[in-house]
This record gives sequence, C-alpha cells and structure tokens, in this order.
Amino acid sequence: MASPLRNIHDQSSIPTGCVRCGSTDETELGAEINIHIPGEIKQEPGVLVFPKVTACLKCGFAHLALEDAELHLIKQRLAGRARWRARASP
Ligand SMILES: [Zn+2]
Repeated sequence: MASPLRNIHDQSSIPTGCVRCGSTDETELGAEINIHIPGEIKQEPGVLVFPKVTACLKCGFAHLALEDAELHLIKQRLAGRARWRARASP
C-alpha cells in the first residue's frame, strides 16, 4: 500500500495539495524559527532560520525547507556538540 504522505523532496512529483488531508487550500508564509540544538549548553543561542513555510489552511499541517547556508550552520553546530561531548566524557 502506498504511503498517504508524499515525499516532499521528490522533485519529480507535482504537489497536489496537503500531504495530510489532501486539501489544496495551502499558502506560503514567511517565518522566523529559532532551532535549538539538542544537548547543547543552555547558554548557547539557537540557530535562527527564516524559511518559507507552506501551511494547510484546512488542517494546519505545515512544512518547510531550510536554505543551504542554514542547513550548513546546523550541521556545524551538531558537529560541535559531538566534539564537546567527546571531550567531556571520561
Ligand atoms: Zn491539510
């Protein structure tokens, strides 16, 4: 049985509406999101990103894609956390 959820990364498919409810009543919105890296020291700031969010106006399901630079920064922070944990462990 096929999954009811579309693969939003599959560029070959044409979006046909909300992946949760199928509604075509979706809109694109600007957003500001502070992403917290799990396990980081509390004083560390989050990673502030400004994605376009596609939101379903029927069920509220929303999805977004990060820009390459934002994704790169998150990967750097995750790698830094891993290094910090390695130094902190006996
Ligand atoms: Zn929906």
